[in-house]
Amino acid sequence: MKNQADVIIVGAGIVGLSIAHQILRRSSLDVLVLEKGAGLGEGSTGASSAVCRFRYSNDEMVLLARDGVAAYRNWSEFLGLTSPAGTYHRQGNLWFTPYGRSWAEPEAARLMRLGVSASVLDDTALASRFPLMSRCIRSPDLETGADHCCEGGGVHLLEEDAGYMDPMAAAADLLEAVRARGGKVQFGCKATQVQSEGGRATGVLLKDGTTLCAGVVVNAAGPWCDDLFKDLGLATWPLAPTRIQIVHIDCPSAYHNQLPICADLTSGIYFREQLGSQQIIVGSVLEADEQDKIGDPDLFDRGVDQQFVAAKLHALSHRFPALPIRGVKGYSGLYTINETDVHPIVGETALSGFYAANGCSGHGFKLAPSIGSLIARSITGNQDHFDTFADPGFLSVNRAPISVQTKSALA
Ligand SMILES: Cc1cc2nc3c(=O)[nH]c(=O)nc-3n(C[C@H](O)[C@H](O)[C@H](O)COP(=O)(O)OP(=O)(O)OC[C@H]3O[C@@H](n4cnc5c(N)ncnc54)[C@H](O)[C@@H]3O)c2cc1C
Repeated sequence: MKNQADVIIVGAGIVGLSIAHQILRRSSLDVLVLEKGAGLGEGSTGASSAVCRFRYSNDEMVLLARDGVAAYRNWSEFLGLTSPAGTYHRQGNLWFTPYGRSWAEPEAARLMRLGVSASVLDDTALASRFPLMSRCIRSPDLETGADHCCEGGGVHLLEEDAGYMDPMAAAADLLEAVRARGGKVQFGCKATQVQSEGGRATGVLLKDGTTLCAGVVVNAAGPWCDDLFKDLGLATWPLAPTRIQIVHIDCPSAYHNQLPICADLTSGIYFREQLGSQQIIVGSVLEADEQDKIGDPDLFDRGVDQQFVAAKLHALSHRFPALPIRGVKGYSGLYTINETDVHPIVGETALSGFYAANGCSGHGFKLAPSIGSLIARSITGNQDHFDTFADPGFLSVNRAPISVQTKSALA
């Protein structure tokens, strides 16, 4: 039977579109992306905080993040579009920790060695750079909300080039770039099964019964990825769709553009500005907040729990005492967590020609261009100057579990 495409990618989230774009940047292969939703943002990407930071426990992850973020920082050139909708907001990411100089300085040195710009800030430097932020290194009491006497004296790590993007703008830009390079993206088109013959992927079966043939199939189905692995007996990693809550509040204009992105390890929150600084979004970096496993990714509570809101806003007020608590709202999205080691699986599966790009947890936005380059290079054999040269075996499907310092999005 004639192939409908050389490569079929299931899922038009940030990962699927990045893979398509990376293949098209370096080859003339026919690429077809299938998306079951009516438009973009149906899965994790639509809810993403899209923070692009660099520090991970493992150096290979730092390299993957560094090289992924390089694409966002050079977005127009990377896409080949003159006026993309997405903009990289370089605000720096502050690791506000109680660990002090003995942690911050070696971590800054490690990042610099890996090509990531980093510095350390003591109380004086912090007050001068981010005067609105409290220097307190004591953990706030998140259960009762009781006040305490604040205590300074910390030393903190700043990733200077960290930033964020609007994830929907980034996905829309990729869609345009893929189509501009001749790729096809079909919405309202659900793949129900990967077809194979003689140990090779041969295409996909669609919900309407049509078979589409292709020599290569990529699973970029986000929280739904296991549906495509199970039939083939390839669900070898526990990839769990997990509900993740986000709170956001209004930010008065007097405070716009005065905060870095912050991972506040004294209270387990991260926060950043959004919508041109008009809001601040707050999420969690705690493993305890990544336990709400979801059976069916189509059915989960998209709202936020009041207890979560109260604890996270208390933590935010502790770090940013002047901020009035107004306009509180929230939502939930899904991480796909690899429960073994919270790292993605990326590469060809045991079924020849069938690739996995799954289990991206809270890392998938920043890593997407790198994941795209790893898979595109493996499929086409061609390199591109935006490629990552992190070890392709590091995230491979048949790797051993990676050892991690925390099984949260910080990993
Ligand atoms: C609240 C939240 C905050 C986050 N914050 C960050 C962050 O700060 N930084 C960071 O780097 N990452 C972050 N992430 C993680 C990141 O957003 C995800 O890892 C990334 O978006 C995953 O992209 P994806 O393309 O794999 O999946 P998705 O965006 O879920 O896309 C998968 C697509 O596949 C489609 N699909 C599924 N099954 C089929 C099928 N059978 N046929 C056709 N189409 C199908 C779905 O409809 C969906 O559109 C966050 C995620 C969430 C939820």
